Amino acid sequence: MPKIRLFCPEPLQIDQTVELAEKNAHYLLNVMKLSCGDKLWLFDNQNGEFEAEIVEATKKKCRLKLITQSQEFFQSPDLWLLFAPLKKDKTDFVIEKACELGVRKICPTLTARTNSEKVRLERLTAQTIEACEQCRRVDLPEIQSPLPLPKLLQNWPKERILFLMDESGKGTPIAQAFAACCGKKAAILVGPEGGFAPQEFELLQKYDFVKSISLGPRILRAETAAAAALSCWQALCGDWKD
Ligand code: SAM
Repeated sequence: MPKIRLFCPEPLQIDQTVELAEKNAHYLLNVMKLSCGDKLWLFDNQNGEFEAEIVEATKKKCRLKLITQSQEFFQSPDLWLLFAPLKKDKTDFVIEKACELGVRKICPTLTARTNSEKVRLERLTAQTIEACEQCRRVDLPEIQSPLPLPKLLQNWPKERILFLMDESGKGTPIAQAFAACCGKKAAILVGPEGGFAPQEFELLQKYDFVKSISLGPRILRAETAAAAALSCWQALCGDWKD
């Protein structure tokens, strides 16, 4: 039986009794067929993860008692992902992989050739919660409202390196570039299906916090490039090497 974990927006502590929202109560009692005495885990994105026992289960209500703390709170590595929103299912994929691959902040970035401008933040938030419940994170990534690339660059925190996934082939090989910058705050920028426009490449090159990166000789789909770049960073600089 997989470990059932649920995000709880209210702050948690041992011995507390929590009443689940209707949606989660329905999932536990009617979908997962749990009942009084069964155990699951809750996390709240600030105090860690707690083992809880169902103490009340009625048609509409499910109350849990927190028994022990099973994980201390800790944040995923300080890595941001900037990506140009894609078609729905591909954006879903990017969000889910970004959570599993331990991104701390997700910034939907509007570029000249972005396919779908409409990004529904509540949908992205629901997806990050589901992905973090599954992959046993105790923190949730921050999701920034979509911003146009030029505006993002104007207000960029200068101490953070922006690794531009540059499909033109002019970038530094990714392993070499990341290995040289471990320990520094980092962000990865992936373009849309149609790539970055020439004027965007020109703009990006003006900023010395931008480093062009190559993901090899083949043109990857944006969602592949995002997952590949995040994996490389975790393996070389993040929490895959601990
Ligand atoms: N302009 C591309 C073409 O020539 O078909 C299409 C863009 S690609 C589908 C989407 C994004 O993935 C790019 O903007 C880039 O950020 C990233 N990407 C894909 N292949 C890459 C590579 N070999 N090196 C670096 N980034 C890559």
